[in-house]
Amino acid sequence: MIASLRTSTVAASAAGCIALAAAPPSYAQQAAGAGGGAAVRAFTNARVIDGTGRAAIPDGVVVARGGAIVSVGSRQEVQIPVDAEVIDLGGRWLVPGLINAHGHVPGDGERARDQLELYAHYGVTTVVSLGDQGADFRESRESPALRHARLYVAGPVVTPGSPEEARAAAARAAEMNVDWVKTRLSGGARGNSETFRSLVRAAGERGMPVAVHIEELEAAKAAVEGGAVLVAHSVRDLPVDAELIQLMRAGNACLVPTFTRELSTFVYAQRPGFFDDPFFLERAAPPDLEAFLTPQLQEQARGAGAERWRAALPLAMENTRRLHEAGIRIAMGTDTGAPTGRFQGYFEHLELEMMAEAGLTPEAVLHAATRDAAACVGLEGVVGTIVPGAWADFLVVDADPLENVLNLRRIHSVWVAGNPVRDR
Ligand SMILES: [Zn+2]
Repeated sequence: MIASLRTSTVAASAAGCIALAAAPPSYAQQAAGAGGGAAVRAFTNARVIDGTGRAAIPDGVVVARGGAIVSVGSRQEVQIPVDAEVIDLGGRWLVPGLINAHGHVPGDGERARDQLELYAHYGVTTVVSLGDQGADFRESRESPALRHARLYVAGPVVTPGSPEEARAAAARAAEMNVDWVKTRLSGGARGNSETFRSLVRAAGERGMPVAVHIEELEAAKAAVEGGAVLVAHSVRDLPVDAELIQLMRAGNACLVPTFTRELSTFVYAQRPGFFDDPFFLERAAPPDLEAFLTPQLQEQARGAGAERWRAALPLAMENTRRLHEAGIRIAMGTDTGAPTGRFQGYFEHLELEMMAEAGLTPEAVLHAATRDAAACVGLEGVVGTIVPGAWADFLVVDADPLENVLNLRRIHSVWVAGNPVRDR
């Protein structure tokens, strides 16, 4: 699994423990082990919400060395290294960087890098791109010099028609060295799951978990019953039931609601209010918005296709709340980067707002976007919490996000591997 390898690599580097023999030394390990040359930063005077669920640490300090967190605690507990650059956060809140468990980063090279910088600008420091892009940022995500969102990828979405094709698809994905296999299931798939099971098995043998695009309750059940760990959209046809809850619990599977995917189909029926939000306009220039204000697009956003998703959204939200209350992990995801009209970075904040509207507390929303998302995508202890051994990926905000998720938009600064990625 990607997860355990990354965890052990990063944890070993940060804590100074012996690295696992099987794990090659990461950039972080090399930097941390090198001593003098590695950047050391101490972030002081912060109210640290570490994402584990424990109370905020008042007058907290986070020390990062070589891109990873080496210590966290109160000013009394943490010894600030003499070689550290001290950054006083002025009593602001420091929270783990946001994780998008279902995004898309199409293209590669500069085009992909621009998108990863855009995500990071808005505090989204990890993105799992679920399909149809070939960018490989595997090297950079292990680098203490990283200055954009960490990228994890699935290969092209696969839809095998037989167990044999499923095994071939998993083999091709492994050759591409991707992290995930992404597929789709429809409601009719349940009675005929041998192909799907073959895909999950073959992918699992190569260390790749499977994420599944679904719409219907029966498809979600087929996915989880067949061994998928990530249900990549909401259930939008029927109320979730005890059977799905039981299956998700047994399979330790997560739900990624992607409410903003639905929103994007109908929100352009009129000029959306967020087109005047200064936070949105930080990275969206008015000329780019003209395309969303044409009569044709507005007509389309009022059409039957859009109406279907608009009508399904309340059920999607209710289903998410029910699964959450049943103890099923929810991971924030948006489907940004796929078709137009889902603005990377900003839509993650809309998603958080909609999760709160669905009935999750601000703390539950924050966990869904940090700790729980990390666990859902196999990155527990690597990102998503402010703990020794994790990458120093976090955002600093001017007001308490546990009072209101909208406070996550009041960004003072964003840090990836302890490096600033947004103007302070
Ligand atoms: Zn998608």
